[in-house]
Amino acid sequence: MVKAVVGANWGDEGKGKITDMLAKQADIIVRFQGGANAGHTIVNDYGKFALHTLPSGVFYSHTTSVIGNGVALNIPVLFEEIRSITDRNVPMPKILVSDRAQIVMPYHILFDQYEEERLGGRSFGSTKSGIAPFYSDKYAKIGFQVSELFDDDLLKEKTVRIAEQKNVLLEHLYHKPLIDPQELLETLHGYRDQIAPYVCDVSLFLDQAVKEGKTILLEGQLGTLKDPDHGIYPMVTSSSTLAAYGAIGAGIPPYEIRQVITVCKAYSSAVGAGAFVSEIFGEEADELRRRGGDGGEYGATTGRPRRMGWFDCVASRYGCRLQGTTDVAFTVLDVLGYLDEIPVCIGYEINGEVTADFPVTPLLEKAKPVLKSLPGWKCDIRGIRTYEELPENCRNYIEFIEQQIGFPITMVSNGPGREDIIYRKSPLSK
Ligand code: GDP
Repeated sequence: MVKAVVGANWGDEGKGKITDMLAKQADIIVRFQGGANAGHTIVNDYGKFALHTLPSGVFYSHTTSVIGNGVALNIPVLFEEIRSITDRNVPMPKILVSDRAQIVMPYHILFDQYEEERLGGRSFGSTKSGIAPFYSDKYAKIGFQVSELFDDDLLKEKTVRIAEQKNVLLEHLYHKPLIDPQELLETLHGYRDQIAPYVCDVSLFLDQAVKEGKTILLEGQLGTLKDPDHGIYPMVTSSSTLAAYGAIGAGIPPYEIRQVITVCKAYSSAVGAGAFVSEIFGEEADELRRRGGDGGEYGATTGRPRRMGWFDCVASRYGCRLQGTTDVAFTVLDVLGYLDEIPVCIGYEINGEVTADFPVTPLLEKAKPVLKSLPGWKCDIRGIRTYEELPENCRNYIEFIEQQIGFPITMVSNGPGREDIIYRKSPLSK
């Protein structure tokens, strides 16, 4: 049984917590896209952790953590992250890395920085983890696949060829130090020796696991609105954030993905530039940011303050639809307990007309939010374990949003911990 855990919005919806929670009943957790540019924050018995590359299942000794072929694999970051958890008494996780994953090179990170510098005020707000240069090279067919680390003749020829190509840009466009092919080769030898014990044919491993009836979780990074095709292009990430891509980025048949759990946060937040229709500002935003998530809405990788906004039904309905949602996990609801009234965005006004359908970016840039206010519940809902015990206004908020987005909310998260979850039967469940 394969399940995907993905985001409906801009990321930071709480996928890490939901994956960590579901991992208890799972055998294998797979990262299928993205890299160390975004992170998941997880609170469990060992403490609070920010993961960037490792799947959120690494805290259980019964799970295998897999880095799929779709991931941008940063080898030093991976080993640093393993060290950071084992240093805090988490047992060494079982890790497998796809022989078809490609490697984030030191120059990808540099090119990311140089390009943001060059763009100045027109930059994308990249996290400078090398992700865009990495995926550009992958599709330009000049990337390094893990399998290639084990063919030294190929490596020798390719490091010279790639350095030649990159050095043209370094010299003439960016005016920065050049790549020394010999040094690059030595770096890759170091990567080879580090990664060798973990490399495997992941699609074959997963094929066997599916046949044995194992439970496999595909863990997405970011959310629908950051998808390069279906998101707010060009302010998107460089690999698909959709559950459908889980099949490709892990190497399994699409029809094996039986459950798509789309994580939606009870309000909105976003990092980086780009249209954000229900965004709020000033003191209203500061207060939500301070109270949000677990200790405030600041990026897990960058520490940047996140942009804040009200729940956006238009974006979330679209986000859930593109994911192929079977279940919505509605998270961080506890944070809204301080509000007398809670605005939600139910439509976009574009050129004088109201629409409930999420538009393409040039129109999205013109959209103004149509808001509706719902009564707050004015109390702390942490610790509640059954749906019926939630205050009536809180249930009304959940049910209003469920009607708006049109997908069943079957899980409500009311705290950062593993046990802070309320399961619910939804009238929309099939
Ligand atoms: P992800 O990238 O989707 O995994 O999201 P992040 O981990 O970056 O952000 C979610 C933040 O919210 C983290 O700090 C979590 O610990 C926290 N969190 C998750 N679920 C809940 C919840 O239900 N309530 C509260 N208060 N915090 C939560």
